[in-house]
Amino acid sequence: MRILITEHPLISHKLTTLRDERTDSPTFRRLAEELVTLLAYEATRDISVETVEITTPVTKTTGLHLKHPTPVVIPILRAGLGMLEGMTRLLPTAEVGFLGMVRDEETLSASTYADRIPGNLSGRQVFLLDPMLATGGTLIAAIDLMHERGADRVVAITLLSAPEGIAAVEKAFAGKNLDITIVTGAVDEKLNEKGYIVPGLGDAGDRLFGVV
Ligand code: URA
Repeated sequence: MRILITEHPLISHKLTTLRDERTDSPTFRRLAEELVTLLAYEATRDISVETVEITTPVTKTTGLHLKHPTPVVIPILRAGLGMLEGMTRLLPTAEVGFLGMVRDEETLSASTYADRIPGNLSGRQVFLLDPMLATGGTLIAAIDLMHERGADRVVAITLLSAPEGIAAVEKAFAGKNLDITIVTGAVDEKLNEKGYIVPGLGDAGDRLFGVV
């Protein structure tokens, strides 16, 4: 497993505003989208391309195009939805699937309540979107599902990650024939007793969409 912490002053600046409890939902949503676009640039570095022939107004030449089949972008509901626009801005031809997962606040384990994902993901590049990698339970369950559907390359994009979550994902897939990359804006200090990332930014879903 690879973990890429994207270090850039603009990412740090936007993350700091995102963390600030005074940041309102409209600003939070805009910043989350902007951050995902910046992280997506790094996350798509190894995206599959193929050589194509084209004719410019001047001459024939060759260039690179995204390879078919197109990548699949899957936001993990609900908070991952706040990252979708920022991702598809960079990858407008990607197919979009939806995965609804909820974590039990007592046990912190994740269960699936919505699954709109292609049945066959073999040969597809999968980008999972979830702003917070906390205990790792949700991401592990999501990657497991991708693997069951045939994906062997999964990139997860998170805004913030906890060291405990990264370690849990690493342990869960150690020795398995699965290429996993986690691209994150920052790795924070720890998880608290309620499973929140510290210092973190609070509940990403609530801050994006309000408490419902
Ligand atoms: N999910 C969140 O939204 N925030 C955390 O800190 C951890 C999990």
